[in-house]
Amino acid sequence: MSNETSQNNNQNNMNENKGKTIADITTTEAPTWCPGCGDFSIAAAIKKAIIELGLKEEDTFISSGIGCGSKTPRYIKTYGFEGLHGRSIPVASAVKIVNPDLNVIAIAGDGDTYGIGGNHFIHSMRRNLDITLIVQNNAIYGLTKGQTSPTSQQGFVSNSTPSGVLEVPVNPIQLALIMGATYVARAYSYDMQNMTDLIAGAIKHKGFSLVDVMLPCLTFNKFNTKEWYDQRVQKLPSLPSDKFEAIKAAEIGEKINTGLFYKQDLPTYEKNTPAYLNTQMPQVKHNISNIDISPLLNRFR
Ligand code: SF4
Repeated sequence: MSNETSQNNNQNNMNENKGKTIADITTTEAPTWCPGCGDFSIAAAIKKAIIELGLKEEDTFISSGIGCGSKTPRYIKTYGFEGLHGRSIPVASAVKIVNPDLNVIAIAGDGDTYGIGGNHFIHSMRRNLDITLIVQNNAIYGLTKGQTSPTSQQGFVSNSTPSGVLEVPVNPIQLALIMGATYVARAYSYDMQNMTDLIAGAIKHKGFSLVDVMLPCLTFNKFNTKEWYDQRVQKLPSLPSDKFEAIKAAEIGEKINTGLFYKQDLPTYEKNTPAYLNTQMPQVKHNISNIDISPLLNRFR
């Protein structure tokens, strides 16, 4: 398959689902999230983006780790995989490398992504894999009953930091900008339209895209409440002119900007692997019927 044919196939994958409704791509499993949890709106925004872009369910894959929001793949009728804690990105990376024709989304919480999976987060960005990472960032570990996470504010009191957090929180947008992510955005779960637009833009972008979504955890985070966010969240007036401006605009202070901070088109990792370059074909379509792996196995006997 030529590069052009592969691109055309990908374009077709993005056009043949028009006309579907949210109900058409929702599974029958009932979400177990607390009533009012922002994970509901994030799942709805992903579904709206899938429909708006016309992605086919069978050409779309969502991976997750462990956490409240990591149950999301159960509720959307695409391919999905719930992996280990912190491992949504490696699973997504492997799927994209083996089959670049798929639309690949990774979803995970702030503890999952920026703490336990922090290593994967950093290195996938410098590779520029064409995957979309959506982070449900509520500044706490919710599923495990309310421990401090890497994005918890200094002084934050939780079960794991009864005297308050001492260290400076991770700023995911600034980290992503420095580590080479090519689409970097911050959304707020109560601004549905903006969140949906940013997620759709991230999926369309060819390269590593991050949408860090701030949401309150109604049950365990009594500090970063909806009222707290509503007093601070504002939209970026325009795309910052360069990375330095983007880093400044991503500061978390009296005000917190949402929107697209940075976008750049660069070659993607999966289309530059020898296995793809030598064949111009996804590895999943390679003919392996006449490959003999016994010499390899014999080496380990
Ligand atoms: Fe949402 Fe928090 Fe409940 Fe988890 S514990 S479902 S993050 S409100």
